Amino acid sequence: MTSTSESRRRLVEALAATIFEHAEELTELDRAIGDGDHGLNMKRGFEHVLALVDDVAAKAPPDALKVIGTTLMMKVGGASGPLYGTLFMTLGKSWPANVDATGFADALGAAIASIKRLGKSDFGQKTMLDVLVPVHDELARGGSGAELGGRVARRATSAAQATIPLQAIRGRASFLGARSIGHMDPGARSSSLMIVALCRELFPDMEDEAWQTSES
Ligand code: ADP
Ligand code: MG
Repeated sequence: MTSTSESRRRLVEALAATIFEHAEELTELDRAIGDGDHGLNMKRGFEHVLALVDDVAAKAPPDALKVIGTTLMMKVGGASGPLYGTLFMTLGKSWPANVDATGFADALGAAIASIKRLGKSDFGQKTMLDVLVPVHDELARGGSGAELGGRVARRATSAAQATIPLQAIRGRASFLGARSIGHMDPGARSSSLMIVALCRELFPDMEDEAWQTSES
C-alpha cells in the first residue's frame, strides 16, 4: 500500500475527527476511573496535529509519524501524552519496507515494546495496551483489503469493551483498586477509535458496523 500527500492528509484529519467527535465520551470514561481529562487532553493534542497537517502530509510516512508523535508528546499531557507520543514516534522509526498487514504488525510491535518500557506496563492491566496488543496480533495474522480492515476494527472495538471487567493495575485508575472494575478504560477507547478511523480511511469499502458505539 502506498500513500500520497492527499491520503496522509485525509488520515490525519480522520484521526483528529474521531477524537473530536468522541472527546466528551473519553472525558466521561476518564471521569469514572481517572481525573476526567482524557478527552480534553487528546482533543488538545490533535488540534495541534491538525494545525500541522500541511507539514505532516508533505512528509514521507516515517517523518510524518515523528511529527505527530512529538506533537502529541508535547501537547497532550497527562500519562497518555508521552505514551501516544512514543507510539507514533516508534511507528515512524520502525516504518516497514513492506506496508502490508505483517509489516505494519512489526512496526506496531516495536511501538508496543516502547510503550511497555515507558509505562512499565503490560497487556491485561486495563490500559491502551489492551487494545494495541490484540490489534497487533490481528495484523500479524496477515490478510488485506476490506476483510483485514473489518477484522482489525472489530478486534479493536471488542478489546476496548473487554477492559470493562478488568481491574486497573497501571495509571491513575489503579488508585481505585477494585472500584476501577466495571468501566471501560479511556485510553483503550481512544486507541480503538483511532484504529477504527484508520481502517475506515484505508479500506472505505469495508463493512460498516456500529463500531463507534460505547456500552460504558
Ligand atoms: P492521566 O491519567 O495522567 O490523567 P489521561 O487521562 O490522558 O492521563 O490518560 C489515561 C490513559 O492512559 C489510561 O486510560 C490508560 O489507557 C493510559 N495509561 C496510563 N498509564 C499507563 C501506563 N503505565 N501504561 C500504558 N497506558 C497507560
Ligand atoms: Mg486523566
